[in-house]
Amino acid sequence: MQNLIQIIYISRSIFPSSDAFGGLDPNVARILAKSRTNNRKKGLVGVLYFGDGCFFQCLEGEQEVVEKLYQTLLEDPRHKDLKLLSRKEINERSFPDWSMKFVGIGTEMKRLLAGYGYKSFDPYSFSPEVTQAVMGLLHAAADPTESSAISPTSNTEVITPHGDQSARWALFISIFALLVATAAMLIAAGIIKLH
Ligand code: FAD
Repeated sequence: MQNLIQIIYISRSIFPSSDAFGGLDPNVARILAKSRTNNRKKGLVGVLYFGDGCFFQCLEGEQEVVEKLYQTLLEDPRHKDLKLLSRKEINERSFPDWSMKFVGIGTEMKRLLAGYGYKSFDPYSFSPEVTQAVMGLLHAAADPTESSAISPTSNTEVITPHGDQSARWALFISIFALLVATAAMLIAAGIIKLH
């Protein structure tokens, strides 16, 4: 019989919020990729939310494994002010398919928080009721990284959140360079004349 627990904790990132890669901060992308690789090996699952400079993470798995990771998290210099919001025993994992689901700030979260009178994501002032409402949303919300380079089922650690988008840009630039080179050759050969 497994001794499963779930913890929910919050923290503040030490890096400024940036969505340079179309919604997923590169620092968070790195954390997420590493978490997915590690958690898969350790039978851990959960969800990570990042918004307004704050993390909100739920971790589920064997008690010893979860507690050991929490000790590691306490020492991670990429965030501070860790606060445990909840810790409970569970019978089964509620994010069974996610080594670490990711949800970023979006309209649904803003709407939910506005309903409780919040203008921004400030988990340090969440009541247990708001925490549960946020958890409900995180269960239901889509993961924008699901179809990106750091797919939840991928075993490869990739730090660019939108690798497919970068590949498209590289292809576009290559085609453009080829066209320019062809035009230059045609001009040089006198086939095209510039007046
Ligand atoms: P490595 O990744 O090789 O890291 C070794 C050490 O270097 C660690 O002490 C780490 O803190 C530090 N480090 C690594 N990268 C950086 C960096 N860019 N800047 C500064 N220090 C760095 N890990 C998980 O396994 N599962 C999780 O679910 C998980 N969730 C996280 C959520 C948040 C919000 C944060 C900030 C970190 C999370 N981590 C998670 C990372 C965790 O804190 C450890 O860094 C990681 O577990 C260590 O993995 P590793 O043993 O493979 O060592």
